[in-house]
Amino acid sequence: MEYSTETYTDQQAGPAFCAEFLRTLEVLDDLKWWLNPSTGVVHTRLPCPECGWAEKRAERTRLVRLDDDGALFSAVCHDHGDYELCIDPVDGGYLDLATLYRNVVKERSFARDTATLHVMLKGGDWAFGCQLVDGALAALGTPAGSMPVRIFTPQVLSDTGGKLSKSLIRATGTAGGGPGVEPWMLVTTDWPGTTDQYVDALLWLVGLLLSDPKHFFRSFTATELGRLMASRPANLATATRARDMPIYKRYYDLIANGTKTIEVRVAYTSMLRIKPGSQIRFTCRDEATITRVKRVARYSSFEEMFDHESAEAINPTAGRAEQLRAIRDIFPPEKEALGVLAIEIEKV
Ligand SMILES: [Zn+2]
Repeated sequence: MEYSTETYTDQQAGPAFCAEFLRTLEVLDDLKWWLNPSTGVVHTRLPCPECGWAEKRAERTRLVRLDDDGALFSAVCHDHGDYELCIDPVDGGYLDLATLYRNVVKERSFARDTATLHVMLKGGDWAFGCQLVDGALAALGTPAGSMPVRIFTPQVLSDTGGKLSKSLIRATGTAGGGPGVEPWMLVTTDWPGTTDQYVDALLWLVGLLLSDPKHFFRSFTATELGRLMASRPANLATATRARDMPIYKRYYDLIANGTKTIEVRVAYTSMLRIKPGSQIRFTCRDEATITRVKRVARYSSFEEMFDHESAEAINPTAGRAEQLRAIRDIFPPEKEALGVLAIEIEKV
């Protein structure tokens, strides 16, 4: 899987985020009770240009002017007195929005990008706040079909029922957190083992939680989490580290019976990490077959690949022309343009 990351600082500086923020200002009266149900005061934190400090509750931050050039705010710094800041759609300006407001702007800007399915992944404690985000998105006229898709992850709770969170580290130091809280639950680097063991253990845990929705859509106390982790198989560290590759049943069967010895993939960055000696676990529903990579060859097109590789080894049940048609049904031209990998495998 190819990925890149973007921080809030990057995102809020982008023109889409700024433009969306400016649009919210036009309908702030309709939004403010969603963004702050207790007072109706929306917190837009604009840091002082001299020192970077901003009022947390933005008590003295005012919107002075809003027009095509952007929004002009006035605010007051304890040390440097009155200042004005302009948020304009081209040059932006640093915007520190309260969590609810930030999510409304973020989800609204994602909703405008119809070419990508954006999925919000949030901790379960955010499910309550999302009702307010949805109210604000509706007030902004977001069509029902553009409302964001959200997945909520299980929460880990301390014995009080509160979320086990980073603020607990600050409150209690790394030593504490309450009964059942193991140091690594708060500080990753306190994990008693290697990084590989940590990754293996977490992957195993996530697999367990995802194995049944009733495990995923609930919360876990730190004690229960510790109990689950302690029950992981002892051989996780020594088990073969194989890359999982889901595959269609008809191809899976050919690999499982040993007649298909070349697997074809588009040369995504992640695929380029496959090297001779790597192990691949081909999976189809509940079935799995482990193979070892003997050779990886890269080609610029499927045609070039078929010029050099045995069509029979790729699929013993079809000829070259038929295979080429089938493979192009699976991979559109823009994927083929990334390059093509022929991965020769043998069953382990
Ligand atoms: Zn200042």
